Amino acid sequence: MQISEIQVDGYEKVVRCRDDNSGLHAIIAVHDTTLGPALGGMRMLPYASEDEALFDVLRLSRGMTFKSAVAETGLGGGKSVIIGDPKTQKSPELFHAMGKFVDSLGGKYITAEDMNIGIPDLEIVKQETRWVTGLSRDSGSSGNPSPYTARGCLQGIRAVLETLHGVDTFVDRHVVIQGVGAVGGGLAVLLKEAGAKVTICDINEARVAELSKEHGFDAVDDAKHLDVECDVYAPCARGAGINDDTIPRLRCKAVAGSANNVLLEPHHADDLRSRGILYAPDYVINAGGIINVAVELLPGGYDEGEACRRIDRIYDNLKLLFEISEREDISTREASQRLAEKRIAEGRK
Ligand code: NAD
Repeated sequence: MQISEIQVDGYEKVVRCRDDNSGLHAIIAVHDTTLGPALGGMRMLPYASEDEALFDVLRLSRGMTFKSAVAETGLGGGKSVIIGDPKTQKSPELFHAMGKFVDSLGGKYITAEDMNIGIPDLEIVKQETRWVTGLSRDSGSSGNPSPYTARGCLQGIRAVLETLHGVDTFVDRHVVIQGVGAVGGGLAVLLKEAGAKVTICDINEARVAELSKEHGFDAVDDAKHLDVECDVYAPCARGAGINDDTIPRLRCKAVAGSANNVLLEPHHADDLRSRGILYAPDYVINAGGIINVAVELLPGGYDEGEACRRIDRIYDNLKLLFEISEREDISTREASQRLAEKRIAEGRK
């Protein structure tokens, strides 16, 4: 097993991990631990080169620093990537080796699930290191994060509605959700329970039919969902959905959903703003899952009540961002970057 440092400006520690026996080739990036140990998921992708993997892990770990700073999880930002095809190159030996590398960082980096990595993979990693989160509830861990991400989105939409209308009631407010999977499906139910009118769409037609039948949601074809007039558009499917093509079509007063990297380019936050559409930055409104995981690391261990109290602060964080954006005449995306930087600078002091 070989571990070697890659020097990258602005990053605390970046390491290349290689193990010839299992074929493991991975990179772990610790961006910043000013506010706490660097937590971030482990993903596995058939990157075309190590440079491509490095680019991804640097970008993602930095994003985790900002996400955790705004969410006040008491954590820093990190990420790990395994270079390989998850369909053919997974093996117990590979995850044992990865666990040993994670352990060798002594808790500076804490891992979790991410793209193409599941609980069974992390159970193996856990045999080698205690620095793993997001395992099953039965094992004392925090379990599936999606319901908590949905809860955080509900709080975020409440902040949006209050900013738009002066009152935070959901009654008779109309929310269109794209993507009713683990997060979007849960969010749709929570919104309906809170009194909102909910319209859903998904490329999985069977899922739409099942949810509409069970909960009485209106459904719209995915190709037409942007044309539906509503208070809030909640993208909960995929990234890059807000772009030059879609922005002119939007008929909502706000964009607030769980989808990661929902803006194709940073300037799309300004484009939304210039059209009077309030944007809840993705990594702020979708932080419920990481806040839930972070509670595992508190001295008393995981406590669902504590997790929910902390997740509900997403409402306050978004209200703060909307105020900063208004006061400083900047996009809400820019406001969230500034808030994160301010919190990290305060942590440094
Ligand atoms: P999921 O896979 O369970 O659900 C996604 C849903 O979107 C699926 O039902 C899928 O059919 C649908 N979909 C995919 N492409 C679509 C398209 N082009 N048009 C319409 N529907 C489409 O995923 P999830 O866990 O619910 O996550 C949803 C989004 O939220 C992702 O962007 C994810 O990165 C982000 N997110 C999730 C969590 C979490 O805790 N699960 C946390 C933070 C962010």
